[in-house]
Amino acid sequence: MDISVTLSQHLKEKPQDESQLGFGHYFTDHMFLMNYEEGKGWFNPRIVPYGNFEMDPASMVLHYGQAIFEGTKCYRRADGELQLFRPEQNLARMTRSAQRMCMPALDEVTALEGLKKLVEIEKDWVPHQDGTSLYIRPTMISMDVHLGVHASRTYLFFIILSPVGSYYKDGLKPVGIYVEDEYVRAVRGGTGFTKCAGNYAASILAGDIAEKKGYSQVLWLDGVEQKYVEEVGSMNMMFVYGDTIVTPALNGSILPGITRNSILTLASQLGYKTEEKKLAIADIFEDIKTGKCTEAFGCGTACVISPVGELCWKDEKLTICNGQIGPVSQKLYDTLVGIQYGRLEDKNQWTMRV
Ligand SMILES: *Cc1c(COP(=O)(O)O)cnc(C)c1O
Repeated sequence: MDISVTLSQHLKEKPQDESQLGFGHYFTDHMFLMNYEEGKGWFNPRIVPYGNFEMDPASMVLHYGQAIFEGTKCYRRADGELQLFRPEQNLARMTRSAQRMCMPALDEVTALEGLKKLVEIEKDWVPHQDGTSLYIRPTMISMDVHLGVHASRTYLFFIILSPVGSYYKDGLKPVGIYVEDEYVRAVRGGTGFTKCAGNYAASILAGDIAEKKGYSQVLWLDGVEQKYVEEVGSMNMMFVYGDTIVTPALNGSILPGITRNSILTLASQLGYKTEEKKLAIADIFEDIKTGKCTEAFGCGTACVISPVGELCWKDEKLTICNGQIGPVSQKLYDTLVGIQYGRLEDKNQWTMRV
């Protein structure tokens, strides 16, 4: 499909100080849109000036929440060239999310073309400082104007872009994590494996309580017995046992992270062993106390790796790796970030030039 382009006549002023970008505060001059109608499929892919949507208050997404999103990034290499990291994986995952939410499969070919074209138009918005990037947010929402719980027949897919700062201004910093034993994020048979907006709405309360207790994220346990580790905040969770990297097996309630998959692949290539299995929080606590479990970290697109320095579960507090960054976490971080910014060879052909 041909993507039409309407350029903005009023370009915004870009934030001057890249060290103050933060996350999700600024948006670029243009966005990509594409519509869907039952019987017609996806149509009218277009790049237009960034701006408000006009929506009927009875639009179905506002009531029943058929809304899914993705998150990926564009990185500036040292030679000034721009590259994406496995964006086709995000679009494929959006189609899997869509199936669960009774939404149409994405036209992944046109969406990827639109994503690349949009980034190309906004190339000057990709920040330069070490660790910064252009965050890419593809989203799909239901648009039928109708009250009644059933699938919408019309949808809007859009992509917006936001320049974001370095997650770590002073190097990798271990965080304190609160093991949530009241609220749950997802259950098998539910929507845990999708990036649907409702999952995040349901997670905010626990995150808020944890923050008030002085922790930066929640570690989610399984939704049935609340015994097994699932995820941490909106990241996948990994534990290091000497030279083995252990992570919860994908079970339907865990989001299959692209960072998770990339780290497992890189870990094997670097000579570590990897295991995906059911992980009881009680065993993890025991293994940290006896020194068998040596490091722990969350992983996702936003931060790449977020080392865990402290865990609190039912008022028992444990320090991991003396509250420091462990060598395995650091090695995996340096390797993945090196590939994303083009400093290290990309043997897996994960990066895509814009
Ligand atoms: C997005 C997300 C992740 C990480 O996925 P990446 O593809 O690595 O960014 C992990 N868990 C949840 C709940 C998420 O929403």
